[in-house]
Amino acid sequence: MSTRTVAVVGAGAAGTAATTALRTRIADSGIEVDVELFARTGEQPHNRTLVNKGVAIGLLEPHQTALPETGVRLTADTVRGIEPRARRVHLDSGRSETFDALIIASGSRPRHLDEDVIGRDQAIATGRLTTLHSLADAVRVRDRIANHRARVIMLGGGVLGSETASLLTDAGHDVALITRSALPGASALGEAVAQQLLDLHRRQHAAYLGCSPRAIRTAADRITVVLDDDTQVDGDLIVLAHGTLPAAPAPWSGPDGIPVDSRLRALQAPDQRIYAAGGVAVHHYPGHASYRIDHWDDSAAQGTHAARALLHDLGHDDDPGPYLPTSTFSARIHGHTLTGAGHPAPATSTRLLSSEPLLAGHYLGDALVALTGIDAVGQVRERLSDLHPQTSVPS
Ligand SMILES: Cc1cc2nc3c(=O)[nH]c(=O)nc-3n(C[C@H](O)[C@H](O)[C@H](O)COP(=O)(O)OP(=O)(O)OC[C@H]3O[C@@H](n4cnc5c(N)ncnc54)[C@H](O)[C@@H]3O)c2cc1C
Repeated sequence: MSTRTVAVVGAGAAGTAATTALRTRIADSGIEVDVELFARTGEQPHNRTLVNKGVAIGLLEPHQTALPETGVRLTADTVRGIEPRARRVHLDSGRSETFDALIIASGSRPRHLDEDVIGRDQAIATGRLTTLHSLADAVRVRDRIANHRARVIMLGGGVLGSETASLLTDAGHDVALITRSALPGASALGEAVAQQLLDLHRRQHAAYLGCSPRAIRTAADRITVVLDDDTQVDGDLIVLAHGTLPAAPAPWSGPDGIPVDSRLRALQAPDQRIYAAGGVAVHHYPGHASYRIDHWDDSAAQGTHAARALLHDLGHDDDPGPYLPTSTFSARIHGHTLTGAGHPAPATSTRLLSSEPLLAGHYLGDALVALTGIDAVGQVRERLSDLHPQTSVPS
């Protein structure tokens, strides 16, 4: 049999985990598979979780976030498009390559403020309004807050917004948190966990809840957010953390990501051996809402799973079974640890499992599909094996 070629697009959490799983299996069994990992042109594969925890607050230089090499050929040449039927990728350099199987692990991009927010574009152009997703964003934040007690307006109270508000407060800056929801994080974390999180914020800094920016005014020495109730909040910098959208090359370059089946095969290319993993992949529980998971460990787990499914489809491995999210995540927020496992999107109810420490279980019928809590890392780990009992598992 001739050597099969596998391309992996994206050298972040999912892509490097997929590559490592493929390389390990190839080394163990001697199968003839050649793997090539594609990064963006000029990009050094790096750990995105260090963008806010390391670079933005000046603890790390960008190069210190580099991921270890995976041991396969790395090509830094942005994939501009994929032809699923021809199994071909088109690269930024103008080259094209064909493959026998492909894993798309191109992650996500930050959601921007709506076009109708007056003054948005000018604020972006001056660098006083920024997302916090890339290393370039982190350097922009770092340079804007360096050497003084900065006033930072955080737009968004999800995990990233909350963690960054905490990091900036700990670093001695004044933070004002502005959230569209009156109880930020309630749908993703459950009301009890979201409420305790909000209490932690309120003890540390200003919080404007249930409001949206209507306009942004940029001056030489400051930036002002005008909220929809006409409240005005001044700062040196606005950091936008309104979540992410999937990011993929054409033909998946729209906002909808890549829907996958239970083995992470791209649903729209059923016979092409194309898989998606990590922040770009859209999952379905039959009869329930579709969802994406944008956490590091889960993305890595999806990358590994996609690699195993791919090797199975090439005839080199056992069926890994359906992908079900069980990975944990955590974020340190104002001296406490927000933690969780699985994903609550398919859940139909939430139950309080413990109040001290706070632990919530998210259920689909009677099946536990996710856990969230505060200072409950051990309790979450103890219950990991309870997630997704067999009866709830889609085949
Ligand atoms: C500031 C910040 C802090 C975070 N902290 C945490 C945390 O503490 N814990 C946690 O669990 N999660 C955290 N996350 C989320 C976590 O980083 C993501 O969920 C995870 O990186 C997703 O993995 P991924 O492989 O899907 O995407 P990524 O890790 O983003 O990797 C995708 C890669 O693909 C590349 N790429 C994209 N398009 C192309 C293309 N066309 N051609 C070639 N390459 C391409 C990208 O440049 C990128 O390198 C954080 C996110 C941010 C923004």
